[in-house]
Amino acid sequence: MKTRTKLVHGGTKRSQYGELSEAIFLTQGFAYDSPESAEARFIEAGEDEYIYARYGNPTVRMFEERIAMLEGTEDGFATASGMAAVNGALVSMLQAGDHVVSARALFGSCLYILENILPRFGVEVTFVDGTDLAQWDAAIRPDTKAVFFESMANPTLDLVDIEGVARLAHANGVTVIVDNVFSTPVYSRALEQGADVVVYSATKHIDGQGRVLGGVILGTKDFIRKTVEPYMKHTGGSMSPFTAWVLLKGLETIDLRVRAQTASAQAIAEAVEGHAKVARVLYPGLKSHAQYALMQRQLGVGGTMVSIDLAGGKAAAFAFLNALEVVLISNNLGDAKSIATHPTTTTHQRLSDEQRASLGITDGLVRLSVGIEDPDDLVADILQALAAS
Ligand SMILES: *Cc1c(COP(=O)(O)O)cnc(C)c1O
Repeated sequence: MKTRTKLVHGGTKRSQYGELSEAIFLTQGFAYDSPESAEARFIEAGEDEYIYARYGNPTVRMFEERIAMLEGTEDGFATASGMAAVNGALVSMLQAGDHVVSARALFGSCLYILENILPRFGVEVTFVDGTDLAQWDAAIRPDTKAVFFESMANPTLDLVDIEGVARLAHANGVTVIVDNVFSTPVYSRALEQGADVVVYSATKHIDGQGRVLGGVILGTKDFIRKTVEPYMKHTGGSMSPFTAWVLLKGLETIDLRVRAQTASAQAIAEAVEGHAKVARVLYPGLKSHAQYALMQRQLGVGGTMVSIDLAGGKAAAFAFLNALEVVLISNNLGDAKSIATHPTTTTHQRLSDEQRASLGITDGLVRLSVGIEDPDDLVADILQALAAS
């Protein structure tokens, strides 16, 4: 089956009623025919045998199988949020005395886990500039257990070379864990490029309609079932069946949505490049982008996010945001609705001025998550807001 077919049919399990749409098994528990069958299931639950929704549920299993098919991994574990997935992927495989190398440009909560939580339990973390392979090379040591990075950083959209980092990591037997949210599972080829574990916040493009929080950890059957599952099922970060059902519906349309969003993002980036009010357009799909060649190798497209650095700083950025009529001001991303964010005053407010400067987050920077509205309306809205700024 090709991708779009898998996204509509993959993982579907029908009950005796033959329902067309996937059923929501909104149940926490399961009844057994006899004490003997309960005993047998607790010794070892087979395929399609469940015990308790924290351990697994048929609707959640459908979601895990469908997203694993899309990513091309053997298996997946669905989690209550993207952060439960990031935490689960890392903590399930690490122990005191281990060393981790991480890119510095991270989603705020990812940074909190690596900077504040892991060190409390004796895991040492070295931060590097993710775009600089020499820094990865220098930081990886004999006791390094994992490397962690976002393949496309927020909000500067800098790419980390998955193949390059994986080559250095694998030469030292280090596990490569990639947070691939901005690259999206539609364009991801992270596994063939060397990632061992791929993590998504399903809250973003997978739902794509702003309804639920969810996440998923994807990897080999061995890693998911022997390392991730015991940790997740005993610590409570499992996905709810209702969320899994919403996300199954999200997966049906993700390919169509993300490709439309990407085409509009490319059109917006081209329309604003060189505009008098714009100091920099950060979009890997522009030929002028420093990582254009890496983008072509790794993703093939520029993705659904465009960051615009307004020459007039915060005042211009706020005037731009206030003038937008179609694009909403919010901090979600990957949604059907186009969204603008001012990272300095919202998502990256807690960083110091020096930290923001070192990550390239200026006061004029506005991050756009491009939705599925008509591209002409989006370009017109952004150009009129730039004029007003
Ligand atoms: C949103 C996001 C997360 C966290 O996901 P939640 O679903 O909000 O918990 C992690 N990493 C990246 C890159 C994100 O964009």
